[in-house]
Amino acid sequence: MNPDLAAADKAFLWHPFTQMRDWCAPENDPVVLVEGRGCTLTDIQGRTYLDGNSSIWTNIHGHSHPRIVRAIQNQAAKLAHSSFLGFTNGPAVRLAEKLVGLFPPQTLTRVFYTDDGSTAVEVALKMAVQYWQLAGRPGKCRFTAFENAYHGDTAGAASLGGIGVFHDRFAPLNFPVLRVDSLAALEALDAPTISELAGVVIEPLIQGAAGMRLWPQGMLRELRKWCDRNEVLLILDEVMTGFGRTGKMFACEHEGVVPEFIALAKGLSGGTMPLAATLTTEKIFAAFLGDYAEMKTLFYGHSYCGNPLGCAAALASLEVFEEEKTLAALQPKIRFLGELLHELASEPHVGDIRQCGLIAGIDVVENKRTPHPWQAQTGAKICAAAREHGLLTRPIRDTLVLMPPLCVTEDELSRAVEALRSGIRSVCGT
Ligand SMILES: *Cc1c(COP(=O)(O)O)cnc(C)c1O
Repeated sequence: MNPDLAAADKAFLWHPFTQMRDWCAPENDPVVLVEGRGCTLTDIQGRTYLDGNSSIWTNIHGHSHPRIVRAIQNQAAKLAHSSFLGFTNGPAVRLAEKLVGLFPPQTLTRVFYTDDGSTAVEVALKMAVQYWQLAGRPGKCRFTAFENAYHGDTAGAASLGGIGVFHDRFAPLNFPVLRVDSLAALEALDAPTISELAGVVIEPLIQGAAGMRLWPQGMLRELRKWCDRNEVLLILDEVMTGFGRTGKMFACEHEGVVPEFIALAKGLSGGTMPLAATLTTEKIFAAFLGDYAEMKTLFYGHSYCGNPLGCAAALASLEVFEEEKTLAALQPKIRFLGELLHELASEPHVGDIRQCGLIAGIDVVENKRTPHPWQAQTGAKICAAAREHGLLTRPIRDTLVLMPPLCVTEDELSRAVEALRSGIRSVCGT
């Protein structure tokens, strides 16, 4: 890469989730991305790569989709940002209407905007706690979350997290969460404990950062019933699963479930602008209405809530879903990916493979039963090797992640899986 850029990056930057000593080491040659078209990213040296993880799970219709680019350009020329505290703007209003329309009528009817997945979850927690206070049940102020859950990195969202290496260190900052590993564990809770619960938070169908772990089929539907029986609010974190990734617009549709809260972010703007939305029901919303002096107001917000650029991009992304019939076009790709993964499973160093829609997690192992020692960073080495074969992705420990933009072609899927196969063979031997 351009040596000036590399040197300046290493001199001035601190990258997320990155051991910076490795990053700054002379032998690390960072990829500087300069352009994206469809599923292809180009670096500063003109090398091209397939975007194998949708740029950290965000991109939906491919990079630089003309419709989304135009929407952002047009909006930027008119109004890039204005306050959402006391004012409103067209794109934010129209997007809210569209989002509500993606759910069954009269279910999720109110939209609260934030900036990212963490804050979309965080505001749901605050809404849930305040809701129960306003409903005269202030004792319902605790949350249940699942083992290995990931809901973001701000302190509130991280309190829900159940991944030891990410979350344990910050335990002194976190509020206590009742952690369960399964629906059965939840069902085993005693009545006094349940009576303190404001809500239960879950990544429906598949836990992403846990390593693409699938919930048993039907679990979400049963969880919904449990919440109804026990007066506990259901908070779905669809930050990763939203916007077609699982084969339907939202993961909860697979089991016909509607939550009290749904958190949307990553793919909301098609993967172009930081934007998030938390949707809730009219019942929750109505509890916050009253005279100002009653102090029922939700005192929560961010400077960039309802950002017109992000909302314009999100509107354009939803239009592309309609125009290109993205969800219908996805079904054969999901089947094709399944076939490719089935073939990959015969590699001696591939263990379990999990697929949910266009999301795949591929475990790499020493042999079919034994995992690699985590310190060996085998997954990271394989992804570095796959990069040489034209694929960019990032593992979760020794789980390789493949979740390309939804516009991916069968040819690109084949090339992506081939690059992973080559990476696995070059790192682990055949
Ligand atoms: C990425 C992610 C988050 C956090 O979103 P950010 O935009 O990174 O704050 C929360 N929940 C899930 C399921 C995610 O995948």
